[in-house]
Amino acid sequence: MLTLLAGMLLDIDHIFANPIFDPNRCSIGFHPLHSYVLIPVYFGLAFWKKTRLLGLALVIHIFADTVDCLFIGF
Ligand SMILES: [Zn+2]
Repeated sequence: MLTLLAGMLLDIDHIFANPIFDPNRCSIGFHPLHSYVLIPVYFGLAFWKKTRLLGLALVIHIFADTVDCLFIGF
């Protein structure tokens, strides 16, 4: 449940962006919850037993967005 909420939290980040979806924009570093400063924090959560699922959900979301970034321009 917490995992789902974490994933949704980052999706809210996308919803507040204008426009909501821009295929030419890289989400990483653009949205406040996708900043380079927070990514190591998400990895930290994934490595800490108690917050592992929460952290994994966040890391997976960041990873998916990163893959999107890599394909910009193709
Ligand atoms: Zn995202």
